[in-house]
Amino acid sequence: MNYYYLVERDYSKPSWAVSEVSNIRKTLPKHFPNPALPPAINSFFSLLPYQKMPLKTQYMSIACKTCGRYDDDAIFDLGFSDPVTIRIKVDFAHTDDRVFAVNQKFLDVLRKGKVEGFETKPLGSSGWHAIRVIERVDCDESVMKLIGPFCKECGRPEQIPGIFTKLEELSLPSRSNVIFTTKTGLAKPYRDRTTFLTEDVVILLKEAGIKGGWCHRLWTREEVDKMDEKAKQGNKWKPKGAVITL
Ligand SMILES: [Zn+2]
Repeated sequence: MNYYYLVERDYSKPSWAVSEVSNIRKTLPKHFPNPALPPAINSFFSLLPYQKMPLKTQYMSIACKTCGRYDDDAIFDLGFSDPVTIRIKVDFAHTDDRVFAVNQKFLDVLRKGKVEGFETKPLGSSGWHAIRVIERVDCDESVMKLIGPFCKECGRPEQIPGIFTKLEELSLPSRSNVIFTTKTGLAKPYRDRTTFLTEDVVILLKEAGIKGGWCHRLWTREEVDKMDEKAKQGNKWKPKGAVITL
């Protein structure tokens, strides 16, 4: 069995599920920064999602009072109510306020295929669904680098570069047909956790015509060794067919 991690495409039009900015944003031009607007407006909208965007009142208590960061799980626990603004043109993506959103087509494919490892909640009356991956595995936490400054109140770091790309970095699930993620969540700018899929789920999504990103296969130790060896010779090498486009 092969295992993949999900990479989503970027979008110019933002979507919001738990922030108050949806109505403000609708009235603003599509692209930022916009030279026609005062610098303060441009800087406000170019900030990372959870840094300055005001949350809807019902979520305020779970955000750090100092840095504004919050756990994705805590948001999901509270659920989602209107207004929700989803402008995703494909079948799945994270909203700009850190919610993993899928459309009805995506959810139907998972349910019909009896895929396990997740739960959903409706994103208000938008017709979209928030997904929380609940199959969780241990991981090699040293893959993620925690770079300060660290928030004085909650201790979250400013940046967390690093990505799981190798099989050996995860304790893999014992079953197939499952979506999974790491037990540890690391408050990265756009989400706490990476989404992983077993190969049968990737094939299911591909064959159903689901669009919106790429599935990257996790590498074996042999492949990592080969890449390192090639790199020493000054050559770039990657296994063929390791990325499946959705
Ligand atoms: Zn904080």
